[in-house]
Amino acid sequence: MTNTDLRSAVKGRVLLPGDDGFEQASKAWNLAVEQRVAAVVEAEDAGDVAAVVGYARRSGLAVSAQPSGHGASGDVDGVILLRTGRLGGVEVNPEERTARVGAGVTWGRVLAEAGPHGLTGLAGSSPVVSVTGYTLGGGLSWFGRKHGFAADSVRAFDLVTAGGERARVTADSDPDLFWALRGGGGDFALVTAVEFGLHPAPSLYGGRVMWPGHRTREVFDAFMEITAEAPDELSVWFNRMQFPQAPPMVAVDAAFLGDEAEGRALLARLDKIDDVIADKRGPVAVADLGDITAEPTDPVPGRSRAELLTGVDDAVVEALLGGPIEPLMGLQLRHLGGALAASRPGAGPSGPVAEPYLLYMLGAAINPELSAAVGGKQAWVVEELGARVSGRKPYTMLGRGERAEAAFSAEAIARLREIKRDRDPEGVLRANFPILA
Ligand SMILES: Cc1cc2nc3c(=O)[nH]c(=O)nc-3n(C[C@H](O)[C@H](O)[C@H](O)COP(=O)(O)OP(=O)(O)OC[C@H]3O[C@@H](n4cnc5c(N)ncnc54)[C@H](O)[C@@H]3O)c2cc1C
Repeated sequence: MTNTDLRSAVKGRVLLPGDDGFEQASKAWNLAVEQRVAAVVEAEDAGDVAAVVGYARRSGLAVSAQPSGHGASGDVDGVILLRTGRLGGVEVNPEERTARVGAGVTWGRVLAEAGPHGLTGLAGSSPVVSVTGYTLGGGLSWFGRKHGFAADSVRAFDLVTAGGERARVTADSDPDLFWALRGGGGDFALVTAVEFGLHPAPSLYGGRVMWPGHRTREVFDAFMEITAEAPDELSVWFNRMQFPQAPPMVAVDAAFLGDEAEGRALLARLDKIDDVIADKRGPVAVADLGDITAEPTDPVPGRSRAELLTGVDDAVVEALLGGPIEPLMGLQLRHLGGALAASRPGAGPSGPVAEPYLLYMLGAAINPELSAAVGGKQAWVVEELGARVSGRKPYTMLGRGERAEAAFSAEAIARLREIKRDRDPEGVLRANFPILA
């Protein structure tokens, strides 16, 4: 089998080592991750996806879908990297409160279409991650406390199986595969489109409030008080920030599925803290949800580590607030709970998540020395947190070097592995965090 066969098998662009543009095309969004792939294919349609699987099977290669590379793990040596950006198309059905999107569509596009109908999808903080990649990993949304994992709202997947067949998979048509796809990652099929339920959001209130670093302890105490009483409609995140050549800062991010008066009252505790640098609280259009945290949308080199915490005690407070966070740029504590913690019949493999808080630590990884220092600081914080670290972490928040099994209960990982062996015995499909590794 030759590369000519690959070019003639698909309509989309095929880039091979040595081709002009190959280096650029094989880069992940996370520029700190190197990718030495065998080929990059930009699928034009679902037929191309099936053709790539057919080619990979005949050639003994694996295929990895990577719409953006936000979740790149580097585990793609020698694979065919499948870009899905041209599998676009967003159809919102306001009467049925559903959306159907192509595999390359980002959350920002869905929110822009759904918002004017008073509806939202279960997006996370970034508007530029793909709906498909995020949802296949479960998807921890601003609205997860109210509605659970994004994957729990999925109605159907259009996909190409590891055997190269095209199929539409629902809870009734193929319960095992449908379950695995709702949180088990990209190991089970190549998805070409997703259909999911939307949720009412006639009004949203939220935004970021920021203070100088010396207010950190007061802001943290207010965060703990607010989250202790928060209704499921409210999600609040605490952030310490240390940007280059800038003084340390502390911030609270919030999103409330409700009106301004109620949202303002729920966050009134923050008004007692002086020295506010910026207060962006106000009504939020669904389409602007990604502006709350204002994360970078262009590619950047980063090294992250996430941990679920069983609670907050003095040791946690000391580890998170006791000293400067450098060389980290950000340390974030997300309040979980609500529907994420509930056992629900028919849910996917990600939940329930009993831990009430998620810690996320991020640093720039612009060179190996800085990356090592960032990793060292993250490891130090985890060590200091001690027994409050549960050891489990959401699949979408896995970092390089971590394994899929950290994201699931023993029962869930056993079932996922059985389904993987059954549906992809030759290992044609490769997720960023493979379920069998
Ligand atoms: C700035 C930032 C903010 C984030 N915020 C959140 C958040 O709030 N909540 C949250 O849960 N996560 C969050 N994440 C993590 C993010 O959801 C994951 O990195 C997710 O994997 C991104 O999906 P992607 O498709 O854009 O990334 P990619 O790295 O391109 O894809 C990730 C994986 O998804 C699978 N995949 C993608 N498309 C397909 C397909 N068509 N068929 C089969 N498999 C496929 C593949 O296994 C692929 O390796 C954030 C990440 C960043 C960098």
